[in-house]
Amino acid sequence: MKRRVINLSNGTQSRCGIANCNDSIKRSVSRKKVDLVPELEVRGNGKKIGLCQSCYRIFKKATKKDRTLESLGR
Ligand SMILES: [Zn+2]
Repeated sequence: MKRRVINLSNGTQSRCGIANCNDSIKRSVSRKKVDLVPELEVRGNGKKIGLCQSCYRIFKKATKKDRTLESLGR
């Protein structure tokens, strides 16, 4: 039998900071950057947003695209 270790002291912090997502955090990024990604709706109002693996992938993709579009548009 396996025992699950659950850390209750930072239970809210270990959850993904994106609305409708409750996965555990893999990475944390600056809120400003997440705000630029329309696919990711940030909840709460911390400066750092914890992202789970799948949200982080969306974030990474979106920010990459943004940067490319920005440089092409100039
Ligand atoms: Zn997530």
